[in-house]
Amino acid sequence: MLYWDYAAATPPYEEVVQTMEQIMRLHYANPSSLHRAGRDAERLLARSREVCAAALGAAPHEILFTSGATESNNLAVKGAALQYQGRGRHIVTTQIEHPSVYESCQQLQSLGWEVTFVAPDSTGVVDPAGIAAAVRRDTVLVSVMHVNNETGAVQPLKDIGRLVKAANHRTLFHVDGVQGFGKLATELKEWQADLYSLSAHKLRGPRGVGILYVREGVSLFPLLTGGSQEQGGRAGTENVPAIVASAKAVRMGAENREAYNKQITPLRERLLAFLSGVPEFTVNSSRDGAPHIVHFSYPAVNGEVMARKLEELGMTVSTRSACSSRLAEPSRILLAMGRDAAVALGGVRISLGDAHTQADIEALEQALLSAVQALKIVERGRD
Ligand code: PMP
Repeated sequence: MLYWDYAAATPPYEEVVQTMEQIMRLHYANPSSLHRAGRDAERLLARSREVCAAALGAAPHEILFTSGATESNNLAVKGAALQYQGRGRHIVTTQIEHPSVYESCQQLQSLGWEVTFVAPDSTGVVDPAGIAAAVRRDTVLVSVMHVNNETGAVQPLKDIGRLVKAANHRTLFHVDGVQGFGKLATELKEWQADLYSLSAHKLRGPRGVGILYVREGVSLFPLLTGGSQEQGGRAGTENVPAIVASAKAVRMGAENREAYNKQITPLRERLLAFLSGVPEFTVNSSRDGAPHIVHFSYPAVNGEVMARKLEELGMTVSTRSACSSRLAEPSRILLAMGRDAAVALGGVRISLGDAHTQADIEALEQALLSAVQALKIVERGRD
């Protein structure tokens, strides 16, 4: 089987697995404990915070560890809304955010907040002027992702940050960086980002660790209360082995970014050119998207049918983001881009990683052609 679902989960680095195992065995003490073993675990945690901060160009006290980007996004959106509700109860976000941002905003809406969901263009990119035009005096937060997890569309964060701050300098800017980090440059200062979310398992780290950058001077209403871990921002005993291993993956992700791009960009370009040449397909990713995601639709059948056929042919792909793939509904992202229901139901996402080669792409292309042929026969049989 060839694995083409790196945007959903990545194989952990060998160093990550080894670090996890070693620390689980040796440093099981609670980092909040005052004895020596606890202080040793706390030192490992502090070192991991420094490593993540350095990779993001941030200070260690601006880094908070969570259970994943879902929690980081929930904390960024709801924590900011609750903390700053004295300033207003309006949020601006986009129609293409990950459910952990989108549904956090909807939940706030049900509690009385107003949310403006800005639409993307047909390539899946939002217009910075459109975001800024939605910002009001009572807008406490703008949340825009770096790279869309379904199409790979890259959002113009620098322009968004500049225009948002010009429209209201008190409005906080949150970026869901999950699909961008390690693929594209992360420039928190240039974007004027106040909050930034990451997930370790998209970076060849372990599952169950998220990072939330919280710029100095910004405070969030804690969603988890209890102990005073994470500077009081997130209660609960820290998962030291997974956090130390995640810091390793974050450092390696930043260091390997250019080599990774050099390796997979030509593969993605070749695959995009191939897909564009198959008349049965609609390509939903553009050439200037992130280097690891290619999304297309085969409107004749549901995406799940194509994905299953490809699996029979030895290719593991997904239909959209893993978090939404069990929904038998058209993709919210593709509908927002103006695609019709058949295209929005027929989506397939192929996401690349550093293990892929030119020969793998050739095998995938053959499998795609075979799948179309096989599904055409199924379609004809139905007539
Ligand atoms: N945001 C984006 C853009 C994602 O792709 C994902 C993962 N599907 C998340 C947030 C959630 O991350 P996690 O799996 O760590 O909760």
